[in-house]
Amino acid sequence: MGAISIRQQRGLDLIQPYVPGKPIAEVQREYGLSQVVKLASNENPLGPSPKAVAALQAALTEIHYYPDAQSHALCQALASRLGVTPEQVIIGNGADGLIRHICAAYLEDEDEVVISRSTFPAYETSAYIMRAKVVKTPLLPGYRIDLAAMADAVTRRTRLIFVCNPNNPTGTIVTNAEVSAFMERIPEHVLVVFDEAYHEFVQDGCYRDAIHYVQEGRQNVMVLRTFSKVYGLAGLRLGYGVAAAEILAPLLASKEPFVVNLLAQVAGLAALEDDEFVQRTLEVTRAGRQFLYQQFEELGLRYVPSQTNFVLVEIGPQAADVYRKLLAKGVIVRPCGGYDLPEFLRVTVGAPKQNERFIAALKEVLV
Ligand SMILES: *Cc1c(COP(=O)(O)O)cnc(C)c1O
Repeated sequence: MGAISIRQQRGLDLIQPYVPGKPIAEVQREYGLSQVVKLASNENPLGPSPKAVAALQAALTEIHYYPDAQSHALCQALASRLGVTPEQVIIGNGADGLIRHICAAYLEDEDEVVISRSTFPAYETSAYIMRAKVVKTPLLPGYRIDLAAMADAVTRRTRLIFVCNPNNPTGTIVTNAEVSAFMERIPEHVLVVFDEAYHEFVQDGCYRDAIHYVQEGRQNVMVLRTFSKVYGLAGLRLGYGVAAAEILAPLLASKEPFVVNLLAQVAGLAALEDDEFVQRTLEVTRAGRQFLYQQFEELGLRYVPSQTNFVLVEIGPQAADVYRKLLAKGVIVRPCGGYDLPEFLRVTVGAPKQNERFIAALKEVLV
């Protein structure tokens, strides 16, 4: 074959392909194992919301129809829950889809995007695809995002700032006081995107979600949320954004018409009514997190106290090796080299049996 002379666009030259948590079927195949536990992608150990499953079953005979391009019913339901107007809500193909879409709608070549070190990688990838410059700020002690450093990094060229709160993979929050001080310093030409994929899990009283900025009429704030974690719908791809209608207008004008599929819309609407499932998820997560903390302490491993459904644990220079040895024992966790934390593993809080299986495997691997 001759050399391909159709060149990919320059933005793609810069990106690191995203490495997702290994799928269960892949580990079963590669290691010849039947029982595999996946604690690598912060999925819900209780499965999907039962109300969502029931609604999906009823909707299966409707999938010859295109979905509602506006996701009208879901926008209405979210708006009334959140205390905003339906015009201030956009539904996306996962929060990931919205991150990509925000970058496409707002970034020009050479614009600057400020993100923290050791945060969710989708921001960086989407910024690079748009040929923007990525400016990274260091973490504070305690593996927390440094909002003062992010504000310091703003220039005339800055267009977007992504703040993951709580942060993935560290599990830490930025406080309401820190966010307030930060927002006072952010000029109006900069859109601040708060990714609140884990906000339901937070217990720290110093946390406040950022929806109030939209309610108060602040123009340069957008909040992202997802149905993938606490509602257990990761496989359907459903997320949403909340911002001033003027901020959403370029997104609505440029979106793929049917980007949110029919089943996702139906399931999301039903899941929003499933408070009992959310409560159970939070209880299982909190109990599981305590179990993991206690086990890590007994093993003499340091961990970062988490406000989410995952825990970052410090293994040391052999972390990548421990990751592979756990895989061979049928336990999938997340190595953190790609997050600039090569000595750590990120472990999703599972159901009790899964957590026990992980700890048993970890003990075998660490000796
Ligand atoms: C899981 C996750 C997402 C992705 O959400 P989807 O709706 O599944 O695309 C976004 N942001 C963070 C921080 C996440 O951890």
